[in-house]
Amino acid sequence: MIAIKNLSKTYRTEHLEVKALDNIDLQIEKGSIFGIIGFSGAGKSTLVRCLNRLEEPDSGSVFIEGQEITNLDQKNLRLARRKIGMIFQQFNLFDSMTVYENVAFPLQVAGYPKNQIKGRVHEILQLVYLTDKLNAYPSHLSGGQKQRVGIARALANKPEVLLCDEATSALDPQTTYSILELLKNINEKLQLTIVLITHELDVLKHICDHMAVLEQGKIVEQGPTEKFFLNPESDTAKNFVRIIQ
Ligand code: ATP
Ligand code: MG
Repeated sequence: MIAIKNLSKTYRTEHLEVKALDNIDLQIEKGSIFGIIGFSGAGKSTLVRCLNRLEEPDSGSVFIEGQEITNLDQKNLRLARRKIGMIFQQFNLFDSMTVYENVAFPLQVAGYPKNQIKGRVHEILQLVYLTDKLNAYPSHLSGGQKQRVGIARALANKPEVLLCDEATSALDPQTTYSILELLKNINEKLQLTIVLITHELDVLKHICDHMAVLEQGKIVEQGPTEKFFLNPESDTAKNFVRIIQ
């Protein structure tokens, strides 16, 4: 389970203060696929990036499977991050590395011996149906294939949580669908908890069992995804649902 308690974050620049997260409380059950929606600037990326401390919260705490993430020193944070995979809209692959090398990279950093790395990379590439692209470079792959490499790399260290920040926004509808199917499949096979930010209600409907709506750094609504579609309560939720009807 992911437990978020009283999490706040303000960005301060010379002339401006933006309260990106305002006292967020949230629990995400283990094995759930949890969607986060909200208009641009609502704080979605900030929230997800605070879970692995790519962004440092000002106050509050984050627990992942009982371990507090927010109080770790850098060394223990690096170890804890192996439990938290992440994928991105622009894939963020290493362009000068092959598919194999991209997926092997986090395992090398974690200090696994070469022969174990080889076995694990093959296993994980099988999971994302990419064994035929082992030696290809990212520039020779389609968007969907690139994201599958991103997923493989994120899963290499057998994380308990996968964070997805608009991971399908750069893909066409059919490819989006196949990546969502893959994520669903992996969620079931590995009992992996997935936190997924999206702008697309179709994505939410298709894959998320629970969800939360963010508005100006606050959670204004949360619960089972069906309830959101049947009976949206917050203005943001009503707006979202109206837009697609
Ligand atoms: P989008 O849907 O456009 O990706 P988002 O919901 O992910 O938006 P965030 O990126 O979390 O929103 O940003 C929340 C708020 O914090 C916004 O007002 C944004 O301008 C501000 N913000 C985000 N990152 C920074 C930063 N590094 N420095 C200053 N302000 C920031
Ligand atoms: Mg964002």
